[in-house]
Amino acid sequence: MVVSPGTAQKPEADTLTDFDAVVIGAGVSGLYQLYRLRELGLRVRVFETGSGVGGTWYWNRYPGARFDSESWTYGYSFSPELLEQWDWEEHFAGQPETERYLNYVADKFELRRDIQFKSRVTSAHYREATRSWDVTLEDGRRYSTRFLITAIGVLSAPTMPRIAGVDTFRGLSCHTHHWPKEPVSFGGKRVAVIGTGASGVQTITEVARTVGHLSVFQRTPQWCAPLHNARISKEEMRQIRANYREIFARCQQTYGCFIHASDPRATHEVTPEQREAFWEKLYEEPGFGIWMGNFRDILVDREANALISDFLARKIRQRVKDPAVAEKLIPRNHGFGTRRVPLESGYYEVYNQPNVQLVDVKQTPIERITPSGIKTSDAEYEFDIIIYATGFDAITGSFDRIDIRGVDMALLKEKWKDGPQTFLGILVDGFPNMLMVMGPHAGLGNFPRAAEYSADWVTGLIHFARERGLTRIEATAAGAADWTDHVIASSQGLLFTEVDSWMTGINRNVEGKQTRRIMRYSGGHPAFRERCDAVAAGGYRELSLA
Ligand code: NAP
Repeated sequence: MVVSPGTAQKPEADTLTDFDAVVIGAGVSGLYQLYRLRELGLRVRVFETGSGVGGTWYWNRYPGARFDSESWTYGYSFSPELLEQWDWEEHFAGQPETERYLNYVADKFELRRDIQFKSRVTSAHYREATRSWDVTLEDGRRYSTRFLITAIGVLSAPTMPRIAGVDTFRGLSCHTHHWPKEPVSFGGKRVAVIGTGASGVQTITEVARTVGHLSVFQRTPQWCAPLHNARISKEEMRQIRANYREIFARCQQTYGCFIHASDPRATHEVTPEQREAFWEKLYEEPGFGIWMGNFRDILVDREANALISDFLARKIRQRVKDPAVAEKLIPRNHGFGTRRVPLESGYYEVYNQPNVQLVDVKQTPIERITPSGIKTSDAEYEFDIIIYATGFDAITGSFDRIDIRGVDMALLKEKWKDGPQTFLGILVDGFPNMLMVMGPHAGLGNFPRAAEYSADWVTGLIHFARERGLTRIEATAAGAADWTDHVIASSQGLLFTEVDSWMTGINRNVEGKQTRRIMRYSGGHPAFRERCDAVAAGGYRELSLA
């Protein structure tokens, strides 16, 4: 039944369930979702696997972990008081600072009293008779809730490589996501890092500062660009604070909610000299400008992409002294920006250190992990520490790890086996009352900017439903099919779709994730918001409400 606004009475408090809403995850989006739902007066419980708040910034405490977004664009925007009180220390905050920030937010808004830590949700089953969800934790405890809200992140299901012998290594070994809270010393140690994505690049650069000997096992090189981090002076912070309104407004206007907007010119509209000067300028500037603030066609036009890739290749050759090593560090199977660009702070110079070795595992594949190290096709290496920077089962992985079942016990993982199907990345037909903050096929980007919008939209919908006594919210199959088609169409022509990466759903360490699919909405966040706002303004008529 589709209901128009204002047709029912406001309900009494819903006492059929333990909670009005369960939020899974106390990271950036879960914390804010809790804050917003409390404003509605809901009985909310957040279940969080970790023992503290922060999600990504609670888990990923690996050496060198830090933002690639400007800190002052990353913080929450919803509270003027919070903006007034919090001083960022660095333009690109390290993990400890971000974790401190999120703890500060949790304390300031007294969020902890509704968060249950060390509580991993293992299953969530929809019950039609009561229009509610039964949520089960790893320890067997069970709760019921009207609304199930997933705030489980995009990159939160880490994956170990499928290499024989991983469990046999006798030294310290750890995935970057699971890095221990206690400090790890690398002085005099023989360390291996497997993986050269954004996590690997940061880890390698930091470990190299103090390591005895470092071996990097690289399968695919990345196009990295300089971060140019710096401390924020008191005066700079004062200016940032005075400009928050403009900063957030600008983020709303850009494709990915970052401060960087693409240049309106096409690559070939300028002379080679102008092009070179522009790229030199971007290379010297902090943050994602070279990726997001570049000529408008570098991610769609093969020739333009080849030119910017060539510029970056020249930079690598300039910075790495050994030409053979430099060539190994230059990507050959994808162009600049078609994978997520890792930002670096001296990454390439690491390979000029005499105690650092680059092992190309495409040339000499890893055969197994041994009790004392790593065996490749041509050598055996001994290590004290092996770091797995091997990435995540992205976007849908954290959903797949929970037994989520909707109407008639249909399994979400099964429904999405050929790729996600959602309405606005927020709702799924057949899974009533489940709402996803930053779900697959939602508008992605500078995470908190997009997450705040998503959580606001979810809050608006729940408010609408409660005002009208509606207890069942579901996407229609037609709505989900239309949105899925639109998401796929919006990625047409973008070069990233031709490349294996987490952004195209590839993870060779996970069964069933070997085929590329469209995992994110590529129409840009302004278009995403426009569509979502229209659905809300239309009284959610495109949903099935009862
Ligand atoms: P990733 O980009 O997926 O990189 C994983 C790396 O591990 C790749 O180099 C991959 O090689 C390699 N790998 C996986 N299995 C392997 C195997 N069996 N043998 C050898 N190599 C293997 O993962 P990530 O670096 O954790 O980054 C994921 C995303 O998290 C980033 O793209 C970014 O969005 C986010 N992140 C953000 C920040 C930040 O804001 N500063 C920092 C870190 C991460 P292939 O490429 O050949 O598969």
